[in-house]
Amino acid sequence: ATPMSVMVGVGKAAEAGVLIRNGEALQTASKITAMILDKTGTITLGAPKVTDVIIAGKYDEQTVLQLAATLESGSEHPLAMAIVESAQERNLQRDIETGKVSNFNAIAGHGVEAEVDGKTLLFGNEKLMRERGIDLGNFVEKAQVLAADAKTPMYFAIDNIFAAIIAVADPIKDDSIAAIKRLQHSGIRVVMLTGDNRDTAKAVANKAGITEFFAEVLPEEKSKKVQELQMQGEIVGMTGDGINDAPALAIANVGFAIGTGTDVAIESADITLMRGSLHGLADAIAVSKATLRNIK
Ligand code: ADP
Ligand code: MG
Repeated sequence: ATPMSVMVGVGKAAEAGVLIRNGEALQTASKITAMILDKTGTITLGAPKVTDVIIAGKYDEQTVLQLAATLESGSEHPLAMAIVESAQERNLQRDIETGKVSNFNAIAGHGVEAEVDGKTLLFGNEKLMRERGIDLGNFVEKAQVLAADAKTPMYFAIDNIFAAIIAVADPIKDDSIAAIKRLQHSGIRVVMLTGDNRDTAKAVANKAGITEFFAEVLPEEKSKKVQELQMQGEIVGMTGDGINDAPALAIANVGFAIGTGTDVAIESADITLMRGSLHGLADAIAVSKATLRNIK
């Protein structure tokens, strides 16, 4: 395309809240054959809320939430924010602040651990509990019921004994379903990518109208999924909001960042969707097609 037509295209996209950083991305966007969408914060709002607390041992709900929130106060993960907010809503905030956290450790893609008030706390997914030899009894089935309802169940262990399941729900953005349909109708293969467990991923993908998804993908493996599709001959668009998505955004043929996402994601992407809506994807592709048509 001529520099002039690219400039016009970039301007048109900007009117739709789609910020294009380089002219090349504008030209490649029309050729995208597969679009990978991160789940949390991209398809969903990225603002999970605690929905269920299922007690498994001697600690009551208040104690469990207060300890979990104290543990998570050191984490910036959206799941951590949900736990802290939930404790605050129950006026357990004062206890969180006075809680003593030491040896805090965030285990990427798995969960968190620390010592709080002399107790050893471990909080995260099933894989993490299995790796540490925590007996979950028949609570895995209860977690599966929550996951089938598109909730993310997390397991909490106190002093190496399973104490509770805490589940969160992160609703799909109002217009994600329609925006995804627009991509599919234009013949694009839409794939969801998430670190979340398989059952939750399946339920969310189903709600979003997506049939193909990769679940339980570790943060460092996200970019490999982009390469896998590229090796299948796809021209890959990647859309994400998180720090975890940055390498995948950079390696994709076109990287799209959610404008409300992290700075690292925005810096790694070619295009930013300022309004946070996935409609920006089909809008960008439409502008790209129009730009290429104009020069022919
Ligand atoms: P995503 O953000 O795509 O859901 P992550 O790779 O960050 O995925 O995390 C994968 C899983 O690890 C989460 O679904 C959760 O079960 C667990 N996990 C990660 N971070 C935390 C945390 N701070 N607290 C509790 N669980 C966590
Ligand atoms: Mg995300």
